[in-house]
Order: sequence, then C-alpha cells, then structure tokens
Amino acid sequence: MKSISARTVGSCLIVGALAVAAIKAQSTNQARDFDAEIRTAVASAKQAAGFEWQGALVRTCLQPPQIGAENTSDTIPGYISKPASTPARSTWFADPAKVFDDFYFVGGKIHSAWALTTSEGIILFDTIYPYNSDELIVGGLKKLGLDPTTIKYVLVTHGHGDHIGGAEMLQKEFGAKVVMGGPDWDAVEKYPNRFTTMAPKREIVATDGMRITLGGKSVTLWLTPGHTPGTFAFTTTVLDRGKPVNIVSSAGVATSFINNRPDPGIKNYQIYLDTQKKIAAKASETKATVLISNHSEFDDAVDKNRMLAGRGDGPHPYEVGADSVQNFFKVLQNCARAAQIGLEKQAATGSR
Ligand SMILES: [Zn+2]
Repeated sequence: MKSISARTVGSCLIVGALAVAAIKAQSTNQARDFDAEIRTAVASAKQAAGFEWQGALVRTCLQPPQIGAENTSDTIPGYISKPASTPARSTWFADPAKVFDDFYFVGGKIHSAWALTTSEGIILFDTIYPYNSDELIVGGLKKLGLDPTTIKYVLVTHGHGDHIGGAEMLQKEFGAKVVMGGPDWDAVEKYPNRFTTMAPKREIVATDGMRITLGGKSVTLWLTPGHTPGTFAFTTTVLDRGKPVNIVSSAGVATSFINNRPDPGIKNYQIYLDTQKKIAAKASETKATVLISNHSEFDDAVDKNRMLAGRGDGPHPYEVGADSVQNFFKVLQNCARAAQIGLEKQAATGSR
C-alpha cells in the first residue's frame, strides 16, 4: 500500500509539474512581444554596423527581400540571348587594383573578383558576368602586369550568374581548375539554359576545411550554406608590405531563400544564422582583420581601392581590425534574427 501511495503521489507531482510548465509556456508565448524583439535585434544590427558596414545593414535589415518560391526557371538570361540588353560598360567598369603585395582586385563597380598570386600561378576568386569577365579579369590582370594564362584555380564561391559568369571561359582558355560547392554544381547541370556560356565542367567539389594550396600559399574553404546551398567562404593570409594579414570572405550576404512564410522560412533563416556564426568563429580563430566580399556594396572595395592610392604611410584601408570583422557578421546575424522573429510572429499570431 505504502509503495502504491508513494507512486501515486509521485505521478501527481509529475503531472502537476507538466501542467505548470504548459501554462508557463503558454503565458510566455502570449506575453511574447515579437515587435519589441524585432526592434531590439535591428537596434543591435545598427549598432554593429556603425559607419563601416552600412551596405550589409541596408541589404539585410532595411530592405528584406520577399522570396516565396525556389528559382526553378531554366531560361537563357537576357544578357546572353539579347546581347543588346547587356548593361552599358559605364555601369560596371572599375579599374583593377593591387590591394596587398600578393592580392589584387579584378572586379567591377558592383561585383568583385580577386586574385591571389603565388610563385606557381594565380588563385582567382569569383568570375563576374560572361559579358565583362574578359575585360575585367583577363584585361585587369594584364593591366596589373600579371599573366592570366597562369590562373590555376578558379574558386566560384556560389553559382549565381554574377559570380560564375566567366568560369567556363577561364576553364576553356587557360585550363584553370574550377572549385564550387556540390549543390551549386548540381544546379549548373540541372539548368543548362540558365547557365548558357556559364557552365564549367565539374572539377573540384568544395568540402568543409578543404585547402587549396599553390606555390606555398593556401586558402581554406568553409561551407557556408544559406545564400545558396553550395555557398562557401574562405580564409587566407596575404602580405601587406611584407607583413602577414589575415583575410576572411563573407559567406553570402543576401537572404536569397524562401523567406516570406514560416515554413520553410524559419528553418532557412536558421541555416543562414548558423552559417554566419560559423564563419564569424573561423574569422576569430584565424585572427582575420580584413573582410572582403564579392559585392562592393558590402566591403566598399571600389572606394577602398581609390583610398589605397593615397595611403602613404597610413593604415591599410581594408584592414578594419578583428572587432570590426566580427561586427560585420553581427549585422547579418541580428538582421536575419529580426526577420526570423517576424516569421515566428506570423506562425504564432497569423500576421506579421
Ligand atoms: Zn548570389
């Protein structure tokens, strides 16, 4: 009897505890002030952005995209099918620049490409569009006194037309080995029309922690899904007047996934958030003091290239310091969290 009664009392206690927990959860949810949480996240993002990372703030916090479906279209882009519709040169041309002793900018006004030089050739990062990669990358390298025929690796950080555009040409012309994330290779093969003239043949599939080594220098790749499923970021070390400087690349900034409804938006934002935390940690571990992007709106590359010309004995305009690099990723995390809270509100209340 005694033991049965003790069990009964025990069960009652458990049931009681569960009921209290359920009521607590319910009242927490009812009491949750989603709008206040969003305001707090946006305020944190603004504080982290300061003056340095306004572009990332604007793109990810202040102008959230509304994407409701996966892009499954397989049509030939207008800039391929109707060459007359190609943007005017004045809208995209920018001068190439020597940024560090062994690291060069060969991009345009809006989209960036970078070249790391080694004693055994060049590692190129991103390839811009089909219509301007020849002038900006091949022509840019020549203007800088570098030899494009020595491009050994082309790292396509994700498979969108503004970054993969010149990869097929560089692979065919110079035999450069193309590296890309597995899911993005799949997309290139799945949508042959969308990638007309932008479809290098599959060579190297990026894996997490993969090192691309050439001429005694190496670049480490980090899988950073979110912007696309195959996006990767990288860390490397360059030289500034002989002094080693650690660089991290952004991991895909725009939230270009289904993001306008709780399912799968909340999960998609979580993938993006996990990615930003991961690459921020890699930046911290590698003591990165420079953040570069493949869009000038995020790292102000074109303006900083102009500032380099007047540097004199001053600080390097790209070298913002480790704390500022961390702030870049804080902007993205807080903006994504604000958007994710908006979807949590939608799930809980039916309205945003
Ligand atoms: Zn993209």
